[in-house]
Amino acid sequence: MRPMPRMAAVLAFSSLLFCRAAITAPQSDHRYAGELTLSVDLADPGQKIFRVRERIPVRAGALTLYYPKWIPGEHSPSGTIRDVAGLIITTDGGQRVDWRRDLDDMFTLHLTAPPGATSLQLEFQLLSPGSGGDFGQSVSVTDRIEDLEWNQVLFYPAGYAARSITVRPRVQLPAGWGYATALATTATHDGAVDFDAVSLEQLVDSPLITGRYFARIDLAPGAPVPVHLDLVADHDSDLKLTDPQLQAHRNLVTQAQALFGARHYEHYDFLFTLSEDTGHFGLEHSQSSDDRLFAKFFTDPDTYLAGGGLLPHEYVHSWNGKFRRPAGLVTANYNVPMHDELLWVYEGLTEYLGNVLTARSGIWTAEQYREQLAATAAGMDHRPGRGWRNLQDTADEAQVLYYVPGDWSTWRRGVDFYEEGELIWLDADTTIRELSAGRRSLDDFVRAFYGVDDGSFVVKPYTFEDVVKTLNAVQPNDWARFLRSRLDTHVTAAPLAGITRGGWTVSYSEQPSASFKARGKTRKFLDLGYSLGLMISTAVDDYGKLLDVVWNSPAFTAGLAPGMKLLAINGRKFDDERVDEELKAAQGGNAPIEILAKNLDSYTTVKVDYHGGPMYPRLTRVTGTPDRLDEVIAPKAASN
Ligand SMILES: [Zn+2]
Repeated sequence: MRPMPRMAAVLAFSSLLFCRAAITAPQSDHRYAGELTLSVDLADPGQKIFRVRERIPVRAGALTLYYPKWIPGEHSPSGTIRDVAGLIITTDGGQRVDWRRDLDDMFTLHLTAPPGATSLQLEFQLLSPGSGGDFGQSVSVTDRIEDLEWNQVLFYPAGYAARSITVRPRVQLPAGWGYATALATTATHDGAVDFDAVSLEQLVDSPLITGRYFARIDLAPGAPVPVHLDLVADHDSDLKLTDPQLQAHRNLVTQAQALFGARHYEHYDFLFTLSEDTGHFGLEHSQSSDDRLFAKFFTDPDTYLAGGGLLPHEYVHSWNGKFRRPAGLVTANYNVPMHDELLWVYEGLTEYLGNVLTARSGIWTAEQYREQLAATAAGMDHRPGRGWRNLQDTADEAQVLYYVPGDWSTWRRGVDFYEEGELIWLDADTTIRELSAGRRSLDDFVRAFYGVDDGSFVVKPYTFEDVVKTLNAVQPNDWARFLRSRLDTHVTAAPLAGITRGGWTVSYSEQPSASFKARGKTRKFLDLGYSLGLMISTAVDDYGKLLDVVWNSPAFTAGLAPGMKLLAINGRKFDDERVDEELKAAQGGNAPIEILAKNLDSYTTVKVDYHGGPMYPRLTRVTGTPDRLDEVIAPKAASN
C-alpha cells in the first residue's frame, strides 16, 4: 500500500481496537463444501449504495460468519463493517434466520441454520462513504466512477482458509460503462458481468474498477504475459497519455522484469482511477493494483511528477508483498490478526525499488529522483521522535499508525518505515556496491530473493533471518547487525549514509526543487518544515491552517500548534507565495517574525525567533567521489 504523502516532513495518517475475539482456527487444507455465489449491483453510482446478494451453502446447525477485518495490504483491522447495513438472512425457502453479533469481535456473526437448510441467502447494502476516510475506507464512488473491493461486499464461513472457499462473483454495472479486473469474464448480458469461480483469496485479491470514461492501454505489446493500464476518470480528457508517458510506463514493465527475473502473475492490470473526488492511495494485489490519484495525473506535469512513483511502487508489490511476504502477514483468512514487524522490508524495500524503477523507466529524470530522495532524507532527518520510538516500533504499531492524524507527526512518528526504509535500503545497496567494488548490488539480492519460482503464485513467506541469509549470500557482511542497528537506534539523525556513499549530500537552499513544489501544489500545502517548522494548508477552504508544527522547531518554541490558523506574518495577511520574502527580510537580523494566529475563537500573536531564511532540501554532488546514485538508477538491459 502507499499513502500519498501530505507533506515532506510529515507522513500522516482512529485506530480500531484490537480484539481477542472468537477466532476460529482455520483448517487450512479443509475445503469448504459447495460454492458461494455473490452478486453486487453497482448500477446506481449516484447514491453510492452497493446492493449485495450472497448465497452460502450450509448444513443445518450452528454457524459463524465473518466479515473481512484484516485487509491484505492495509496491514490493519480496517475492514468496512461500519458501512454494512440492511442485513437480512433467509433460507432458500424464505424463512428468516436471526443472527447475533459476537460481543468481542464486531466482524463476527453467530446464527443457526434451521433443520433442512442447505443454503442461506444474505441480502445487505454497503453504504459506500461520501467523504473522508483513508485507503479502503475512503470515497470509492463518483457519479462516473466506481471502485469495488470485494472484501467490502461479502461474508464468509468461519473455520476455513480463504484459499479453501470458492466464490462465483457477478456484478451489475451502469449501462455503457467500461470495466477492468484481473478476474476472467465468462459472460456479459444487459450490464451484468459473470466471472469465473475463484477462491475467496483470489477474489479479494482482484478488485474491479468501472467508469463512464474508460481506456485500456497495452503496456507489453507482443509479450507472452500481458500487462495493461486500465483507466477510469470523471472526464474523458483525463484519459490521454503523451507518447513519452506511454513509453515510460512500458519501460516500467521491461525494467521490472529485468530487475526481478521472474513473474508471479499470468497477466497484470494497473487499475488506475483518476479523480479529484475519490480517495488517493494505492493498494497492491498479485495480478493487479488499485491505484487512485488526482484527475490530471497525465495532463498536468506537476501532478505527474508528484504521483509518478505510485504505479511502480504497487507493481513491485506483486513480488515484494504478495508473492514473498513476511511470515506474520501470511494469514489463513481475513479475521486472523496480522503482525506488521517486517513492514520495513515489505513497504520500505518496495518504496526503495519503486522509486528506483520510476527513475530507470524514465517516469522521473535522474534529477527528479534525487529531488524526491532529498525530500525524504530531509523529512526523516527532522524526526526527533526517533529519540523515544525507534523505526522498528513504527512497523510494530503500523496497524494503528496508518490511521493516526498528522498532528505532531515528527514527535509521534507515523508509518516512517516507508521513507526511512528507503534510506536504509539505499544504504544497503551502496554498501554492497562499495564492498564488491561495483561488481554486485542490491539488484542481485532482489533477483535471488524474489526472482525464484517463475510463474508461481504460492506465497513464499520470509523471516528476518531469511533476509539476512540472502544478503550474506550476495555480499558477506554482518547484515543482521547492519539492519538491527538502524532499526533499533534512538539517535535523532536519519540514516543518510547511503546518500553519502552514493556521492551526494543533503543540503538546503533558498529555492525549493521542482519536485518539492509539485508535491506542495498537488497536495495543497506549504512546507516550511526546515525553516520555521510549519506545514500550512493552501487549500481554499482551509487556507492558512497549520497542518503540523515540527517538534522543537522555532515555531514550536514560539507556542504554535497544529489546528491553529495562520492569519498574518509581520502584520501582513498570510500569502503562501510571499512567505519567503518575510523569511529573507528576517535573515541575519535580530527582530523576530511575528505571526498572528487564530486558535479556535481566540487570536494570538507569537514571535518566532528564526533568522535562517528559506530552507528547502536538495542533494548536492560531493566532487571526487563515485556517483553511485547514478549507477543505482541506470536502466538495466532488458530481459524477456
Ligand atoms: Zn506499499
